Amino acid sequence: MPNYVVGHKIPDSDSICSAIALSYLKTTLGEETIPARLGELTPETLFILEKFGFEQPELKTSYAGESLYIVDHSERTQAPDDIDDATILGIIDHHKLGDITTSTPLEIWVRPVGCTNTIIKMMYDFHNVEIPKDIAGAMMCAILSDTVIFKSPTCTTADIKCVEALAEIAGIENPAELGMDMFKVKSAVEGTPVRDLVLRDFKDFNMNGNLVGIGQLEVIDLAIFDEMKADLAADIAKLKTEGDRHTVLLLLTDIMKEGSELLVVSDNDNLSLDAFGKATTDGKVWLDGVLSRKKQVVPPLQDVFA
Ligand code: MN
Ligand code: MN
Repeated sequence: MPNYVVGHKIPDSDSICSAIALSYLKTTLGEETIPARLGELTPETLFILEKFGFEQPELKTSYAGESLYIVDHSERTQAPDDIDDATILGIIDHHKLGDITTSTPLEIWVRPVGCTNTIIKMMYDFHNVEIPKDIAGAMMCAILSDTVIFKSPTCTTADIKCVEALAEIAGIENPAELGMDMFKVKSAVEGTPVRDLVLRDFKDFNMNGNLVGIGQLEVIDLAIFDEMKADLAADIAKLKTEGDRHTVLLLLTDIMKEGSELLVVSDNDNLSLDAFGKATTDGKVWLDGVLSRKKQVVPPLQDVFA
């Protein structure tokens, strides 16, 4: 029976490219491993797969009785629902350590870098396995996506060096230009149903027993949301009620201005003030310099909920 590699629910480019890259590495090392996904792909990820000639990984949401590697998360809220009935062979991740535990020993590669694919590159180097050209291209794009073309505070020198090395293998002359092409694809939000946008990059967190959902949309120009901001705010209020959440946040990130407008619905009226030192006006607040949910939004929220 083959093993699987799967990233988080509502998969992003890192989760998908990690699954592809790690399954190739494991299979090359003699352990038949299949990439999988927990949901539909974003336009950005489809762009990457098409560019480098990959099929979508298999849609597989149930893993009872199977063995799998978990990539790009270690939170139960983001993992397959029946993860308790599966054998976790390993976790490769770059987020805060979550609450997934195992009953058997496992392989863990967790590093504070900008992207899971940077860690997977380290694994290829560790095992001295050559990265195929197409996989290198996909890995490089995932790093450019997760690090917002190196602008995110999560970006490290390891990520930058990794992109340089992968670009060389993939034969990409200007990675930053390809990164901008990806963010242009990501910025094409007009005509997309509001709920699809809210859930495009959405993660639930368990914060001291409270369910907190945080979505993020990264675009080249925030003005694109001017017409639909009221609808987005109304929809996150609905999402809060539907999911019995304490809080739903939506980060509208402007990658050129390097900051985010935060839309907030919460049982705590002072949440934004307590977490970020700035109160909301009509449920909105601009947070200058905030690009990263993982590094700049989740930690101060955790402190408020602690
Ligand atoms: Mn991710
Ligand atoms: Mn990631």
